[in-house]
Amino acid sequence: GRDACDAGHGYGDQRRVTPAARAAELRSTLDRASYDYYVLDQPTISDAEYDKLFRELVTIEAEHPELKTPDSPTLRVGAEPRSALPKHRHLIPMLSLGNAFSNDELTEWQGRIERIVGDAIHKSGYTAELKIDGAAVSLTYRDGVLVAGATRGNGTIGEDVTPNLRTIREIPLRLRTDSPPKLIEIRGEVYMPFDEFEKMNEARAAAGEPLYANPRNTAAGALRQLDANVSAQRPLRFYGYSVAGAEIGFETQWEVLETLAEWGIPVAPNRRRAQTLDEVFAWAAEVEHTVRAALNFAIDGGVVKVDSLALQEELGTISDREPRWAIARKFAPDIAVTRLLKIQVNVGRTGALSPYAELEPVEIGGVTVRQATLHNFDLIAQKDLREGDWVQLKRAGEVIPQIIAPLVERREPGSQKTVAPTECPICHTPVERDPEEVGIFCPNVACPGRRLEALVHFASRAAMDIRGLS
Ligand code: NAD
Repeated sequence: GRDACDAGHGYGDQRRVTPAARAAELRSTLDRASYDYYVLDQPTISDAEYDKLFRELVTIEAEHPELKTPDSPTLRVGAEPRSALPKHRHLIPMLSLGNAFSNDELTEWQGRIERIVGDAIHKSGYTAELKIDGAAVSLTYRDGVLVAGATRGNGTIGEDVTPNLRTIREIPLRLRTDSPPKLIEIRGEVYMPFDEFEKMNEARAAAGEPLYANPRNTAAGALRQLDANVSAQRPLRFYGYSVAGAEIGFETQWEVLETLAEWGIPVAPNRRRAQTLDEVFAWAAEVEHTVRAALNFAIDGGVVKVDSLALQEELGTISDREPRWAIARKFAPDIAVTRLLKIQVNVGRTGALSPYAELEPVEIGGVTVRQATLHNFDLIAQKDLREGDWVQLKRAGEVIPQIIAPLVERREPGSQKTVAPTECPICHTPVERDPEEVGIFCPNVACPGRRLEALVHFASRAAMDIRGLS
């Protein structure tokens, strides 16, 4: 944890260290982060930080090919499966994806493809799909019947989680077709919808249990439970997006998606077939700025694929890690890491004391965030949020950003636990606790803070609708 974090901020050190030392340091940081992310399902750095460090290593290795090592994270998929679950070998490796962080990088990607297959790419065109931020799995169907399901693992060997996957109701146990292929692997993403995730956390908060950090890692953790009864209780869902090992002659990726949907496999919405990259750009802008906020599940971008499967075959893969024919168009992250400067308290019209966080300004999804709601002091205690902490912040779908969790490993010694105020910060009346509610409140009806809020409420649109009062 600590190494990972220091490396993320140690850019000032780059001039002093040699490329070899920096590459070694990045490899060890990325390995540690991958282990936390894939094996423990508990990331210690943000995805954006991970991507940034990964890019830096790619750049160093491109400039100094002699520094490449066979075990570099730039050549591998995921992490070694290390749980007690049985192992499963995939028919064909499950790969990762290269990233494009801008339209220009998509154009460069197209250029690399043109150099190999020429004009054929313009005849083929592309498919554009949502990039669901969950855990990749493969489902094996024999004669149309689900016989096995596994996680991606290191790409070649995954963990056999068949009983767990069977508990996901929308995964068909039998494909809805009279002429199923003899054998086929259907690949897709297991995820947890936002609303179900929130509901689960509310129930946990009410029961005094620790809260889950985010839907992706919670879904990945639930999927990898040794006891399928535990997985069954978690709201897991599935979207399929590709097939492998089938003897059926699909011609395009678009046809694959349509066929999966016909077979009863859920396929993610907002997919598009695009003849040109300009259409892909328009699609990506719409997804990032309009569609994304309305989705009930997390995406971290879009995936652009060469539509023609014959061309995909011709293009092949790069060092067994990523296909040359597909790329992730990553969006600005909607999770960020920043510093919690101060915990402030608002006094509401009814006297409720609501804490909120003053943050070091940080950009999430194109918006600068300076404050976040903290709901109530019970939640602060539960998450053990302290002034001065580095915190993970999200703005996923919601307008008001929320603090997910403090990064405890980055906490400086001597930090103080947050204590709920014993008196109203405005009129200094001792606070009371409402046995029916979670929060504390100021009981003084004449409290100037309460009266100001009451006046604001009185003038508001929902009440007297007084315009121009200031
Ligand atoms: P990736 O997530 O960037 O892309 C590959 C994956 O995309 C596939 O395996 C598949 O699961 C998924 N996917 C979703 N929708 C898809 C679709 N429609 N078509 C095809 N694939 C689709 O690559 P990765 O190797 O899985 O993971 C790397 C990423 O994971 C990093 O970029 C980072 O964001 C995150 N990560 C974070 C940490 C951390 O510490 N925070 C550590 C490791 C990885």
